[in-house]
Amino acid sequence: MRILFLLPILVPYMMIANAQTSEKFAAIWEKEHVTHILPSDVRHANLKNYIEELKKLGLNVDEVGRSGAGREIYQVEFGHGPLKVFMWSQMHGDEPTATSALIDMFAYFQKNRKSEFVKMIEDKITLRAVPMLNPDGAEIYQRRNLQSIDINRDALDLRTPEAQLLKKLRDDWMPAIGFNLHNQQELTTVGHSWNQATISLLVVYGDAAKTPSPGQDRNTRLVSAIINGLQKFIPGHIARYDDEYTATAFGDNFSAWGTPTILIETGALHGKDEMYLVKLNFVAFLTALNALITGSEANESTAPYLSLLENGGGTLYYFIFRNANIIGANGETYVADIGVNTERRRASFAAPNIIRTVGSIVGSHGLEEYDVSGFDVAQRFGSLRVGDLAELFFYKKDRVVDWKSTDLEKQFPPDAVFSLGKWAKGEGVVPKMK
Ligand SMILES: [Zn+2]
Repeated sequence: MRILFLLPILVPYMMIANAQTSEKFAAIWEKEHVTHILPSDVRHANLKNYIEELKKLGLNVDEVGRSGAGREIYQVEFGHGPLKVFMWSQMHGDEPTATSALIDMFAYFQKNRKSEFVKMIEDKITLRAVPMLNPDGAEIYQRRNLQSIDINRDALDLRTPEAQLLKKLRDDWMPAIGFNLHNQQELTTVGHSWNQATISLLVVYGDAAKTPSPGQDRNTRLVSAIINGLQKFIPGHIARYDDEYTATAFGDNFSAWGTPTILIETGALHGKDEMYLVKLNFVAFLTALNALITGSEANESTAPYLSLLENGGGTLYYFIFRNANIIGANGETYVADIGVNTERRRASFAAPNIIRTVGSIVGSHGLEEYDVSGFDVAQRFGSLRVGDLAELFFYKKDRVVDWKSTDLEKQFPPDAVFSLGKWAKGEGVVPKMK
């Protein structure tokens, strides 16, 4: 009698105690992740090491094909459930974040098969993933494959071995859900705001008319679950990928062929490194899988997805130096803002920082902005020009400097030097704005 009385109280309590949250998934990643190389530095040889680790753990890994240059392409599998979920990453060679997240996810699943949550995934889902579909592109950190073809525009022509493989993996297995995993430009914004779009999501339709289907409806709910999970980490930094139908792209065709696909595009977040983005991907994957195995997706509101702002751009710079007193080619001076952007490179490479604008920068924002009104600014090499590397010398305005000097740096040491995207000298001398 007493036990029966307690049951209605206990059951919801137990459910709550076992409920998975995105915070829990993030904590799991912190504790369990096996990848330690920054994703942009992961080459095929590093991937092979990761794959060996997964095999040692007992995961099912197959070499399913070869790239144009003969590099192995792998598929990892976990679980034996009826729901088939397929994920692929890095079909663009310089878009690496999700590859590491997939490795971390499989390692975590295999090592924690006794946990109730992982057991449920194992029993309800069969998960297959191809990490690094384009190893030749990844090797030289370029978007395209060895033939210089964009694999994501080759879904119909199938002129690349990688596209042929991807289509075959889908057609042979007919997964119920696809996850197409990419990186987007780091200065992509949420709508017209100045917030970087750290994660952008898209429910991919199989036609230009966006004909709805039960699969797309489910994906809309799944993506909403992902958004709710990620909001706790990156509020205001989630956007909707601009959903123009691309007839030759894989996501659109996967959806058309019967595998409704979700696109996850990872951008960047100023001040956070690449491993943070791996964690966000890991959280996104586990949140989606959790919503599937618990059935919670069925009750998920689609409002979070439908109310997302679309990707925007063109309003952010990496660095803006405001109101600089610039030393011109003939030693004359003029006042202008300087906008500088960092180009994408591997983490271990020095990324070029290029002067993109000289003039009045209105309506745009810098991830870092400096008030340079108290300084004269000279370019290390010659005069300051758009398209050149930003190698900037800052002199307090009361300094007396012979701008024609042949060795400015030595004869008139600057108060601060901005070089390779950092303060090489005098950090904090030039006041930061905001
Ligand atoms: Zn891409």
